[in-house]
Amino acid sequence: MPLMTRDDYIASLRALKRRVFIHGERVENVVDHPLVRPSLNACAMTYELAHASEHAALMRATSNLTGETINRFTHLHQSTADLIAKVKMQRLLGQTTGCCFQRCVGMDAFNALDSVTYEMDQALGTNYHARFRAYLRDVQTRDLVVDGAMTDPKGDRRLSPSQQADPDVFVHIVERKSDGIIVRGAKLHQTGALNSHEIVVMPTQTLGETDKDYAVSFAVPADASGIVMILGRQPSDTRKLEDAPRDVGNREFGGHEAVIVFNDVFVPWERVFMAGEYAFSGKLVERFAGYHRQSYGGCKSGVGDVLIGTAQMLAQYQGVDKASHIRDKIVEMIHLNETLYACGIACSAEGKPTASGTYLIDLLLANVCKLNVTRFPYEIARLAQDIAGGLLVTLPSEKDFAHPEVGALLQKYLRGVANYTTDERCRMLRLLENLTLGPGAAAYLTESMHGAGSPQAQRIMLARLADLDTKTRLAKRLAGVESL
Ligand code: SF4
Ligand code: FE
Repeated sequence: MPLMTRDDYIASLRALKRRVFIHGERVENVVDHPLVRPSLNACAMTYELAHASEHAALMRATSNLTGETINRFTHLHQSTADLIAKVKMQRLLGQTTGCCFQRCVGMDAFNALDSVTYEMDQALGTNYHARFRAYLRDVQTRDLVVDGAMTDPKGDRRLSPSQQADPDVFVHIVERKSDGIIVRGAKLHQTGALNSHEIVVMPTQTLGETDKDYAVSFAVPADASGIVMILGRQPSDTRKLEDAPRDVGNREFGGHEAVIVFNDVFVPWERVFMAGEYAFSGKLVERFAGYHRQSYGGCKSGVGDVLIGTAQMLAQYQGVDKASHIRDKIVEMIHLNETLYACGIACSAEGKPTASGTYLIDLLLANVCKLNVTRFPYEIARLAQDIAGGLLVTLPSEKDFAHPEVGALLQKYLRGVANYTTDERCRMLRLLENLTLGPGAAAYLTESMHGAGSPQAQRIMLARLADLDTKTRLAKRLAGVESL
């Protein structure tokens, strides 16, 4: 059974010889770096839970390619039940880690590439689909984490890729050879890049004929020659270096993003899934984005569960949990959070098979899901901060609590309800700080806004998919103005 354990996974990352920079330094041992380890722990949970029999139905699937039991993160969805299980798996992992566990982007890339390469081959007589499936078979068998890389730097947004002053601000083919292609460019905001074995690159937008060298999709090992990764900063990230773990809030888990640079990277043809077929670039972007917009209905509602639990405990520690306005705020948070989940489930239940047999979510509902995700986590976070009070941002350090002179004073004056300790209250405040202001906020808030496309991208899709003509016809019939 091709399911790696957590330890296998970490050992396999250790074996990679990558070029990684963190805080201005080249880092050889990425796996043990304190700024990376929490995110590695979160990604490793996708392996750990796959070995837990109580989670087998969500975490494992039977591969339609090999017939083997595989991790669902490498699976091609074969039914609406698969699409729903994906969202439930993501909620479970969000609940377990309280952060971004990073492995979904690759899964969403696989599913988008599977149907688009099939349709491209049907239309153009190319042979990308068989290549892609051979690649995915290998990913499934080796149980790999694959970074799905879409977002280019984009330079001057008024200009197309080939019109840019610097032609490299979108990833593109710089040379075609008999055995493969050479690519150059960069991808920004790459979730889980440092915890990935492989990178699958896709174009970032719909492209025209003059930009055909930018219509490129391929897979490379994370340690391929010419790849450089630079870790992105997060709010309060250096607390992880301070030897005061309680001040971090979520001590065990976190997410990360990185810049990935492709400095003339060679990709053999068997790992190339699009090379100039610009007419299919838009479809690939739309499907990948659709799957990832579905994903947020699972992961964000899972983290939302943690956040609601945090707010409820703080209310109890402070003796306000029975106050009617606090209960009402908690109910509002639940309502918003379950709405996100409902959208994730709805777009999955309404999924349909594509020509390759892989199931696609309902794109309209997936976009509704994501547009809600750009708003509701902010409101949930606002309500949690309202309940928590100002101590959320004025709490002294763990080192003050350990100090022989002031520690006892803090213990005495920061105590809430007598049957809870000061320590319990302070740990919970730090968790809320992490989720709404610290490193966790990068994923729960800003990433909710911009990940899988900023809100305007979803609005464009809603306008396109909503079928306004039908709605106006319905209104005209009932109003009796059909023939006017
Ligand atoms: Fe997965 Fe959510 Fe992280 Fe995206 S933000 S990789 S969907 S956990
Ligand atoms: Fe994301």
